[in-house]
Amino acid sequence: MTQQHKSRRSFVKNLSLGIGSTAILPVLSSFQDLNEKIGRTDRKKLNIALCGLGRYATLLARSFVDTEYCNLAGIITGTPSKAVDWKRRYAIPDANIYDYGNFDTLKDNPDIDLVYVVLPNGMHKEFTLRAAAAGKHVIVEKPMAFTEKDCEEMITACQKAGVQLAVGYRLHYEPNHLEIKRLGQRKVFGQVRLIEVSLGYSIDDIDPNDWHLKKNLSGGGPLMNLGVYCVQASRYVLGEEPIAATAQFGPVTKPELYTEVEESITWQLYFASGAMATSTSTNSSGVDRFFASAEKGFFELSPAVSYGPFRGRSSHGEFDFPVINQQAAQMDGIAKVILAGKQLPEHISGIEGKKDMKVLEAIYTAAETGKKIFLS
Ligand code: NAD
Repeated sequence: MTQQHKSRRSFVKNLSLGIGSTAILPVLSSFQDLNEKIGRTDRKKLNIALCGLGRYATLLARSFVDTEYCNLAGIITGTPSKAVDWKRRYAIPDANIYDYGNFDTLKDNPDIDLVYVVLPNGMHKEFTLRAAAAGKHVIVEKPMAFTEKDCEEMITACQKAGVQLAVGYRLHYEPNHLEIKRLGQRKVFGQVRLIEVSLGYSIDDIDPNDWHLKKNLSGGGPLMNLGVYCVQASRYVLGEEPIAATAQFGPVTKPELYTEVEESITWQLYFASGAMATSTSTNSSGVDRFFASAEKGFFELSPAVSYGPFRGRSSHGEFDFPVINQQAAQMDGIAKVILAGKQLPEHISGIEGKKDMKVLEAIYTAAETGKKIFLS
């Protein structure tokens, strides 16, 4: 069975096992060992509180052992049993355990530097604004919010509060992705003319009450959840913003589930250079690939956008990059900059999330209207 044909069930299972993350956890004899490895007391580390302790936060928590600059210092959860479990598992001090009600008192806690918002998409904006008001730096998971306007508000709030805002774009630190960005932007094979990049999972076991299916919490279907990576890759490989979008909703195979959000969507982005990017995001079939055709060659990744490990090649041969823990690399990359008192580069900041959101909004409008939507 290829990576593309793995079901969401195996995806989620891999996630919970940490396999997909490539995080090879060392065998630790006790939680004390784990804490020593994490180095919670090291003052040169950024103290991070995870907000929302679901599947992805669990993967992030396990990745702290692979970071150099991050401590899992606190948690924010609405589920008391999770607070008990996480406190024991990661030796979180009582003073650093919050719920959504007392979240704002984080402002009085100097032992938390940054809040990592890993909640359903519809809660990203609220908790980013609240974290900023508490004087904490923020990493917010993708998609950053529901609209470009929401993103603007989040960026402004963080600027006013004097805190930094990053988006959880793990692929910006992944070597295969850095390579396709280099090949595309430096025109190693000439101008890229065509990109095909898609991500989908065959989700056969989703709970009808899952927030991903509820528009007020998800903002949309696989475009919001998965397609944002495809839009990202198209933009950073070409190094330019799309000038127009067309899009089509795909077939609905499970009408009982997809009453509020799309099950599949396909879109085309048009760029001033003449390049075109075409993508599908879907919950009804497995696909995880990137292909770029340039004037004098090609480059591709498959798997490409998931947790990997990725495989890539170009007209010049196979890629040979190390397999990394994407989550650890991303958190460390952000922490290093913040600890140095420097400004985060734009490609990992809220500005990047806002640019993606503008394109996602155009794609939805194009699919809903059947028109070509021009992005100014
Ligand atoms: P999840 O459903 O596993 O976890 C969501 C958490 O939010 C749970 O702990 C849940 O208890 C909590 N929550 C609080 N209020 C809630 C409410 N009203 N409804 C539902 N849950 C509520 O989801 P997840 O897969 O961990 O995704 C969380 C965020 O992380 C999403 O924004 C998602 O897009 C993002 N994510 C990013 C990646 C990545 O690779 N960067 C991967 C997976 C998920």
